[in-house]
Amino acid sequence: MTLQDALWFDPTRIFVDGAWRQPSGGGTIDVENPSTGTVIGAIGRGTAEDVDAAVAAAQAAMDGAWGRMSATERGRIMSKMATLVLERAEKLAMIEALDVGKPLHQSRNDSIALARYLEFYGGAADKLMGTTIPYQDGFTVYTLREPHGVCGVIIPWNYPMQILGRAVGAALAAGNACVLKPAEDASLSSLAFAAIAEEAGLPAGALNVVTGFGHDVGSALSGHAGVDHVSFTGSVGTGERIQAAASRNVVPVTLELGGKSPHIVFDDCDLDKAMPTLVGACMQNAGQTCSAASRVLVQRGVYEEVKRRMAEIYRGLEAGPAIGSHALGPLVSRKQKQIVSSYIEIGRKELAIAAEGKIRDDAAAEGNFVAPVLFADVPPDHKLAQEEIFGPVQVLIPFEDEAEALKIANGTPYGLVAGVWTRDGGRQMRLARKLHVGQVFINNYGAGGGIELPFGGVGKSGHGREKGFEALYGFTRVKTVAASHG
Ligand code: ADP
Repeated sequence: MTLQDALWFDPTRIFVDGAWRQPSGGGTIDVENPSTGTVIGAIGRGTAEDVDAAVAAAQAAMDGAWGRMSATERGRIMSKMATLVLERAEKLAMIEALDVGKPLHQSRNDSIALARYLEFYGGAADKLMGTTIPYQDGFTVYTLREPHGVCGVIIPWNYPMQILGRAVGAALAAGNACVLKPAEDASLSSLAFAAIAEEAGLPAGALNVVTGFGHDVGSALSGHAGVDHVSFTGSVGTGERIQAAASRNVVPVTLELGGKSPHIVFDDCDLDKAMPTLVGACMQNAGQTCSAASRVLVQRGVYEEVKRRMAEIYRGLEAGPAIGSHALGPLVSRKQKQIVSSYIEIGRKELAIAAEGKIRDDAAAEGNFVAPVLFADVPPDHKLAQEEIFGPVQVLIPFEDEAEALKIANGTPYGLVAGVWTRDGGRQMRLARKLHVGQVFINNYGAGGGIELPFGGVGKSGHGREKGFEALYGFTRVKTVAASHG
């Protein structure tokens, strides 16, 4: 299947007010296949004017058919969207594989996850309730959980379908209207999603998709006076700019900004269970995952064994074209390859390499391939143990005891996810409390995508929670009504 076979919509158009239109400037942005480095299509280059139109359409939707629709009916439309996503799962997977270089087996997972988000949030739409509050005699007091209104959703290129699913899914279920701005190098699946929403009968303006660059469309959206809530997933620097832009309108912001997440491996753990996960939790999506377990902290008693067994796995890892069955695809762009390669160069000069994977012979020289690297005996304060690399690179750090493990684990500016591998129940509970992160996995990691599991960070990993029921609270605000009987 080629990209043209998979597309059933015109990707050079944007989706505003229930209709497909050319961006106001008439511009386009090339779509490159990261596996080959060749241009395979184009998307529309939206403008600030398009953002104005999309926000106006979203406001009108809130005041119109979408705003009046019952929660049950919203849920039904979302269920229909889920069914259409499942029917098109193979096409969506192919679009994503060609657009962002994700191996097909992973992009298939992403299509299924998108459907799951729509099912989960569609089913939750009419189960989101306020409370009644015992108050003074002569009063009835209750809370209403209301949508914010217009939600600006800015997403990155690493998991477009999953991230739009968790944000737009929760926002729509809670009754908001959305303006979605996908990443410039990963917009096709968001446009496909708009086509599916249209087919499912989502009222005009409830979902608008404006493609384009971050400095044009993203910046216009995050600072737009008509936007009532901004949700962003991406880099720390861009998150800071978005929060600053939104602060001018004093609107709430949800930020998910990545991490430097640790696996903490104790002497007493079940190593056979841990081993595949220790590597897989970082190599998934070639390391381009916010929650990638990029630091592996290992207690001295099993350090040499873990190093040897991880090195063995690394030597079998291969990066190759997205349409193939190997573990890793290319990185999303030349820029990303350059960033990751420069970290690896620093590591080569300053650190010990435990093992490396390979780039397959059939991988195009122009593709953005990077061979995975495992660095050993890395000082916890080294650049490669502190900064998010967003590529197939892991660092092994030895530790003596629980106190040292905790200090190292909490010793970066980030705090997204942690994995704890131990059979000691007391230690599991102590660490779950003391780790400065938004999610702790005990004797597992990532829990299968975790649509139901609240997710988000502390520190530079961001604030606010996505996924699970918790996200619905973030996409609503509470109004208290106090009625006097007298
Ligand atoms: P990267 O540099 O790896 O592309 P970013 O965090 O900059 O990661 O990108 C994530 C998303 O943020 C993309 O959709 C991008 O277009 C958008 N973006 C980039 N710069 C800005 C900005 N100044 N304001 C709003 N959105 C932006």
